[in-house]
Amino acid sequence: MKILKFGGTSVGSAERMKAVASLILNGEPKIVVLSAMSGTTNALVQIAETLYQNKHDEAKALIQALHDKYKQVVEELYTSDDKKKQANELLKQHFEYLNAFTLDLFTIHEERAVLAQGELLSTALFQFYLEEQGEKSVLLPALNFMKVDENEEPDSAYIAQQLQKELEKHPGVALFITQGYICRNAFGEIDNLKRGGSDYSASLIGAAVDAQEIQIWTDIDGMHNNDPRIVKNTHPIAELSFDEAAELAYFGAKILHPSSVKPAKQKNIPVKLLNTLQPEARGTTISTKTESGKIKAVAAKDGITAIKIKSGRMLLAYGFLRSVFEVFERYKTPIDMITTSEVAVSLTIDNAKHLDEILAELKEFGQVEVDQDQTIICVVGDFIAERSGSGLAVFQSLQNIPLRMISYGGSKNNISVLVNTSDKIEALTKLNDGIFNGNEAHA
Ligand code: ADP
Ligand code: ASP
Ligand code: MG
Repeated sequence: MKILKFGGTSVGSAERMKAVASLILNGEPKIVVLSAMSGTTNALVQIAETLYQNKHDEAKALIQALHDKYKQVVEELYTSDDKKKQANELLKQHFEYLNAFTLDLFTIHEERAVLAQGELLSTALFQFYLEEQGEKSVLLPALNFMKVDENEEPDSAYIAQQLQKELEKHPGVALFITQGYICRNAFGEIDNLKRGGSDYSASLIGAAVDAQEIQIWTDIDGMHNNDPRIVKNTHPIAELSFDEAAELAYFGAKILHPSSVKPAKQKNIPVKLLNTLQPEARGTTISTKTESGKIKAVAAKDGITAIKIKSGRMLLAYGFLRSVFEVFERYKTPIDMITTSEVAVSLTIDNAKHLDEILAELKEFGQVEVDQDQTIICVVGDFIAERSGSGLAVFQSLQNIPLRMISYGGSKNNISVLVNTSDKIEALTKLNDGIFNGNEAHA
């Protein structure tokens, strides 16, 4: 069994959906995971914001505009009047459901139900298309098997068990379609795996069925060595290890959801990043294989808060760091980077939801300084068999940029530095010139 996930752009129009169908129809058993059509989740976010603000007329107008867009897709996607009628009926149900939120109280629970509509629509429309083409496929409701627990962590045992049950309902079927991104939470409510979460869905599904391969189909020919939205002259990387890919995803390479490598790594399932617009391109293969001693790529993660705690008590004290970490643990706030000196510890977080409470507790230990609008720049490669000088090449490239923190040696595949977000573009560009373009041996 293979898992094939298609992102927003890949199913972004009737034409793109037809292209996806032609890519998947080869008789091999597979589960196809779809995102919402591009722009839909953003539109639903906007609708939810308007509903929070009780701007009901504005919300209705946005819902109508989205409905009109989908009516156009239906016109272009199907040939028979019967299918068009069936699909328009489906749209009517979903858009009436959305409109009903303009009549009632709007909370986070309703917001999550609104956000789920994109994937529910794309998969249903795609399934109708396959039916019209006479293909035998089954739409699996992700809300019947995809689940997170009270810590918002996927419940892998439940997912595997329930998915198996769903699959067993359809003996002899080789093609399944399901929604990415959406899930149920510990209370059984509709929830989601956060923005970009369809990649995570695909990986969790792959791990649940012990898939032979997970393919993430998107709008670019694999993981590039730098952020192509910011830097010119980037190139795709043919092979990455699970750890390298996980670091890049976690530290901002948007092509993969931050958590999406972990389930595949745990089950040792290769992940391929492929381009729907250029299916013959080699893309990137993520597996246990890597090329030693190479700097592979650079990624950047914004929205970082740096916290420095200065304390006389740290001097010669054991147990100090544990007390500091426990504060973050109590607020379920992961720490990304950490550096220490004799009298101070600096660390970074990307989730500032409980910042005020955390700072109040940290102040008990000593003086606390906070810097917001920081960016982690992460250089990824295999540094264990480090070519002498690869660290030097990184720091030389960044010589004119103020570095707030440096982390080297924490893992064998990562050198990270913390910079002001205003210096990010320059840092990424300088690294590209310094470690890739100027010296192909590194690339
Ligand atoms: P999808 O909708 O298919 O999930 P995304 O927009 O989430 O697609 O991810 C693909 C995009 O990620 C690319 O179009 C590219 O702009 C962006 N991106 C950021 N960093 C990288 C990188 N290092 N390599 C490739 N793409 C990247
Ligand atoms: N549709 C969701 C989003 O836009 C999930 C995804 O595309 O992966 O975030
Ligand atoms: Mg994505």
